[in-house]
Formats: sequence, C-alpha cells, structure tokens
Amino acid sequence: MERRRSLRVEPSIAYFSMEIGLQNDIPTYSGGLGVLAGDTIRSAADLNLPMVAVTLMCRKGYFRQELDPAGRQIEREVDWRPEQHLTLLPQRVTVSIEGRTVQVQAWRYDVKSLAGGVVPVFLLDTHVDGNAESDRGITDFLYGGDQRYRLKQEIVLGIGGVRMLEEVGYMGIRKYHMNEGHASFLTLELLHRFKKDIEDVWDERLVWDKDTVRSRCVFTTHTPVEAGHDKFPYELVRDVLGEFVPIHVLRELGGQDVLNMTLLALNLSDFVNGVAKKHGEVSQHMFPGYVINAITNGVHSFTWTCDDFRRLYDRYLPGWANEPELFVRVGRIPDEEIWAAHQSAKRRLLRHVKEIAGVEMNPDLFTIGFARRATAYKRADLLFSDMERLKRIGRGRLQVIYAGKAHPRDMNGKQMIEKIVRAAQDLAPDIHMVYLPNYNMDLGLLMASGVDVWLNNPLRPHEASGTSGMKAAHNGVLNFSVLDGWWIEGHIEGFTGWAIGPEPTESSLDQRADAVDAADLYRKLEEVIMPLYYNDRHTWVRMMQNAIGKNAYYFNTHRMMRRYVTEAYIR
Ligand SMILES: *Cc1c(COP(=O)(O)O)cnc(C)c1O
Repeated sequence: MERRRSLRVEPSIAYFSMEIGLQNDIPTYSGGLGVLAGDTIRSAADLNLPMVAVTLMCRKGYFRQELDPAGRQIEREVDWRPEQHLTLLPQRVTVSIEGRTVQVQAWRYDVKSLAGGVVPVFLLDTHVDGNAESDRGITDFLYGGDQRYRLKQEIVLGIGGVRMLEEVGYMGIRKYHMNEGHASFLTLELLHRFKKDIEDVWDERLVWDKDTVRSRCVFTTHTPVEAGHDKFPYELVRDVLGEFVPIHVLRELGGQDVLNMTLLALNLSDFVNGVAKKHGEVSQHMFPGYVINAITNGVHSFTWTCDDFRRLYDRYLPGWANEPELFVRVGRIPDEEIWAAHQSAKRRLLRHVKEIAGVEMNPDLFTIGFARRATAYKRADLLFSDMERLKRIGRGRLQVIYAGKAHPRDMNGKQMIEKIVRAAQDLAPDIHMVYLPNYNMDLGLLMASGVDVWLNNPLRPHEASGTSGMKAAHNGVLNFSVLDGWWIEGHIEGFTGWAIGPEPTESSLDQRADAVDAADLYRKLEEVIMPLYYNDRHTWVRMMQNAIGKNAYYFNTHRMMRRYVTEAYIR
C-alpha cells in the first residue's frame, strides 16, 4: 500500500463542472449533469486516474423542494455546514469582475475509492472577508440569479479554477476537461498562459496560441437543443469580464453576435464529444465543421446499486464494483434470489412512500417509477393523456410513483407537478399514485431500485443521454422508454425492456408525437408489460437479468472513463 502511494503520479487531468453530486447531503448539484460529474470522479478514483476536479461551492445549494397539497412547489434554502464535509484551504487567488478584484478561496473534498485511489475536488468560494458584499454571494446559488450572476460564476469557475489549481501546487495538468460549456472560460486563462512573446509577432492575433490551448482541452457537450447553450451579450461580457482578451479575439472564438460558451469550448478543444451516439450526431448537425465524437454516459455501479443487489453481486459476482464487466455472469444468480432482492428493495421504497405521502401501496402490484427534472420536454404528464383508458388498464393493478424538482423559474415545470398531483387525486382509489417531494440522490436510488418499471418519455431528440434508466438497470428494474439518448443503444425489445413510440430515425418534433407516443404507451402497458408481470414471472426475471447483464454491464462510468482516457486524455 505504502509503496503504491509513493508511486502515485501527480494529477494531469483537471475536470471542471459547474455542479458535482459528491454525496446526497452536499447540495452542490441539481440533477443529471452534477450526478454524472460525481460518478465520473468516483470511477476515476476507483481506476486510480491522476485527476483533480473543480466546481463551485453553492453555500445555499440548489433548493429543497416542498409540495403543498395542491402540488405547488415551495423552494427552501438548503441549510448545510460546509466545514462538516470539506476542508478550507489557506490559498487564495483573485479574478477581476466588473473591474473589482475578487478573492476566491477553495474547499477541498477527497473522493476516496475503496480501491485506494483519491480524486481531490476543489470547491471555489467567494465568501471571503474583504470582498464586496455582492461578490461574497457569487458562489451561493446553483443556477440562481440572472445572466450577469451566471457570467460571474463562470468567471470564477473557469479562470479562478485554473489559477487555484496552480496555487495549490498542481503544476503538471496536461488536460482540462470541460463538463458542459459553463467552464469554457478556462480556455481564456490558458490563452494567457501560452501567449507568445509580442515582440516577434507581426499580427497581434498570432499572440494567442490557440493550437497549444486546443491540445490541452477536452469538451463534453450535454445539450441537444440550441436554446440550452449558455450565451452572453458582448456588452455584458465587456462590463463584467472587461477586455480579458480583446473582444475581437473573443468574437472570433465565441461567436460574432453573442458569446456562445459552447462555441468557445468547441473552438479551443481538440477532443469534443456528445454523451450518447445519437446526441453526438445531433450535435454534429448543430455545429457543422467541427468533429464531434460520442462517448455514451454511464453511472457509477457501486453508488447506484441498492444494498439488496450489492449483497447478491458480492456473493455471485465478487469484484463487480470495480469491474462491472462481471455483470456478464449475472446468469449465475438464481431467479428466486433476484426476485427476493427486488421485492426487498420495493418494500423499502413503499415504506418511504407510506412515511412521506401517507399512502399504503401494495408490494405485489405492478409499480411504475418516473423521476426527473420537471420540465416540459420530459412530458411527465404523457401517462394522463387519456384518463379513462388509464383507469381501465390500471384499476386495482397499477401504482405510480413520481418525483422531480422544477427549476424555480420554470413555470411550465411547476404546472406539470400540479397537474400530476391533480391526476393522482382523480385516479384514487382506482390507481394509487404519489408525487414524492425533494428528488435527490438518495431518493433517486430508492426509486430506481424499488419500482418494477422505469418510465421515460421525453420529446425526441431532447434527451442527450439520460442516466436514471441506467441506475434502474443496475437493480434489475426494466426500462420502458422513448428511443432517445442512451436507450437507443441499450434497448432490445422484449429483452432488456421496451420502447415507446417510433424508431429514433423518425423525427418527432411535430404535433402528433404526443398522441402517437401515448397510444403506444397504453397499448404496450395493457397488452405486453402488465400481462407479463402478472402471468410470466420466469420471463420477467430473465429480462431483469438482461437489464443487468447487458445494460448495467455497459452503461457504467468505469467503461465511460476508460474511453475518455484512451480517446480524449491520452492523445
Ligand atoms: C440520476 C439523477 C438524475 C438524472 O437522471 P435523468 O434520467 O438523466 O433525468 C437527476 N437527478 C437525480 C437526483 C439523479 O439521481
């Protein structure tokens, strides 16, 4: 052990992300992007990769969600004590914001692997004595505030982050990995690092050594729709960032009309990828002229496997947590034991439902789970397109458990939650349905392991990857999903799960998509999935094994990180 530690190489990969899901009670994440970042780091630690990570502090977190009886979302500030989890470092760096010098400090959190690896995470924080009152709040809220606030945060993350890594002594960083465009300002700091001596350069533009910066940068894009990319007007940029690099250079790199953070990263990275094969293609269409690769997301197997299945895997597939390829041998586990582990996970979830929502659900009834950010394109209400039909199909035979937060400014998302709560009242007592408040990592595992089928019906092609279905697969829970994101790759009809709606090659962005998808959803529930659940346990358990042996086997962050290493980091 000691010998190994002394041989540890110095970190050479720096991973930057606006949010990271380190653990459930550190509220520095909001959803998929942050959980992916956490899983990335957990796998990097398991694989002993020489990595460090940088993110923001979020002293006030994202928010804690409460729901009133009508389903109206109430947002509470999160109370947490950073010093219980993190260590404040003595180092300080500064960044310039609106012409003021803003000091940045960092808290350290070590992601430790049971296998011995460690990835240090630095959480940047402007809550420093001497900073102006408004600057002290820059790192308070995740995705809070206006455009100006976001721009300030991204300056702290990108520019402050590169400076902080150097300040704490990491001199050997060879690759900077931007997890989404929020971190793109790190490229500007690197432009300064590699600036050529002005004396012998005749064209001022050649001062900026873009090739060297490019050779250091890796960019993962997560957003399949144009409107989702961070963009800032240049007046705002000039006002907040100043002429950190001349605006005409910035326009060349980040777009003529507005500063597009995705474009900035694209222009200064020599490896760019989308997060599923389909998403790679969609991104390629959005940005012709760039080479966009695809590395499909995964989840950290150990983190997203519930206790019952951990015990089962420990017994039959020892070593699985650090070698998820061993899921290929899932056929060794007896059917009865898989079913017993599943029922145990299901009872645990139903106890939580009883405790939180006061609804008594039956562990022998077919149960659907749906949990994700409440926002329009996820179509959480698709199941209610035809209430009479749903009642006919599900009366006395179906239970549904929902969860998910709406962004505080997403009015459609909030109305969606209210609509589901109303539908629940409408369906009772024929069909038991609940909306559990405050979706977070713990509830995510509880739900993804405790239902029978994991439902996902986004409007294509909006789901870049989706990862909650991969968590379900790790626990033998079957996916029933629209063919978008990762499910295009994971789906084998009637074998690993089921598809909703048409093939992924057909565009769905038209008026009929909802009706077509809803009809297919009802038909398969009624004719295929529920009959199988109630009448053919043997085939059902076979499918659970396929979810583990084919989906969990592949859609994990160990596989994902090995691909980042060979395709992006070592080049
Ligand atoms: C896994 C997870 C997500 C992402 O799930 P998607 O399927 O990508 O929507 C979001 N929030 C939490 C709390 C999670 O655990």
